[in-house]
Amino acid sequence: MQKLKKLYEGKAKIVYETEEPDKVILEFKDVATAFDGVKKEDIKGKGSLNNEISSILFTILENHGIKTHFIKKLSDREMLVWKAKRFPLELVVRNYAAGSFVKRYGVKEGTEINPPLTEFFMKNDELHDPMVCEEHIRFLELAPVELLPKMKKIGLKVNEILKNIFEKANILLVDFKLEFGLLPDGSLAVVDEISPDSMRLWDKQTREKLDKDRFRFDLGDLLEGYKKILLNLKEVI
Ligand code: UDP
Repeated sequence: MQKLKKLYEGKAKIVYETEEPDKVILEFKDVATAFDGVKKEDIKGKGSLNNEISSILFTILENHGIKTHFIKKLSDREMLVWKAKRFPLELVVRNYAAGSFVKRYGVKEGTEINPPLTEFFMKNDELHDPMVCEEHIRFLELAPVELLPKMKKIGLKVNEILKNIFEKANILLVDFKLEFGLLPDGSLAVVDEISPDSMRLWDKQTREKLDKDRFRFDLGDLLEGYKKILLNLKEVI
């Protein structure tokens, strides 16, 4: 599959057209960004780790009957996916309090959230991804509101699947973000990436942070954390 015209370049990925109109190539960049792109650094090897971890997780989800845009991993930093009409919306699922949840509600980091909860955010860096509810989503036309319960249901199912896999890998799935879109056949699917850039993953025993928080808050070598996630995952799949 050949890369043709560049369709879009985001902070962490580039999307290319292919000779097939309903398939695109995602190229994972060797760049880490945080705080809506304010903090940025080239990190050689990050793209390939995120591509590999994402490909593994998408494959697991597909095997559990979750519809995603993933078709196959093409190379170190490239993945072939269905072209989707993406909604400018993010669904976050939380099992433990961290990040913006801690700041917003004053809950102690690491407090268990059981049953897990879901939150929607508008995908917009300039506005710092504000949290939105159904009425906002309807007014701002971010996505058809009749799809929201489906998105939540998929998010919670993805959570159960990934929580179990990571549990076996000795890793705590703290929270994660999903994006959704409509595939060429009109079906609702999980799109974008599912990687340590978009999830919080802690070592189950030590609670060491293995995800992008290492970069956000200078907690240690980013690649070391991502490599540990990949290694542990590979042992249990
Ligand atoms: N997240 C993401 N993209 C975003 C915002 C959040 O992938 O634009 C992920 C983040 O990595 C974490 C989860 O969603 O795993 C919850 O993030 P939170 O709302 O706590 O925001 P943050 O503290 O990352 O700003």
